[in-house]
Amino acid sequence: MHSDCLFCKIASGAFSTEFLVETENLVAFRDINPAAPTHVLVIPKRHIPSLARLGPEDQHLMGEIMLAVKQIAEQEGLDEGFRVVVNTGPDGGQSVNHLHFHLLGGRSLQWPPG
Ligand code: AMP
Repeated sequence: MHSDCLFCKIASGAFSTEFLVETENLVAFRDINPAAPTHVLVIPKRHIPSLARLGPEDQHLMGEIMLAVKQIAEQEGLDEGFRVVVNTGPDGGQSVNHLHFHLLGGRSLQWPPG
């Protein structure tokens, strides 16, 4: 855990955040500033700064995160579809430097993003 990382603190339970899913390796919680009726963040508990910093050892973890995304989409009733976004680095619009997967759904989403 990085003591100055917001998402490390959330994952550790420091803010008593409600988790939609929690496993040994990941947590999922609702975005504080939702961009869609469903806006959930799925994050690894371990501090990984961004997608650009993944290593081969993270292969299983990434699969676990994708399956959690699918499970949450089902729980949220996103039968008409949804979007998964991983903003990466300054050009990607990443504002929190702890890897996170946005799950967005519940409305028709536009493409391309800005
Ligand atoms: P990104 O811009 O891709 O790095 O996404 C960071 C996301 O974290 C944004 O959608 C924020 O609304 C969200 N966020 C920031 N602080 C919190 C928090 N305390 N709890 C839940 N979501 C947060």
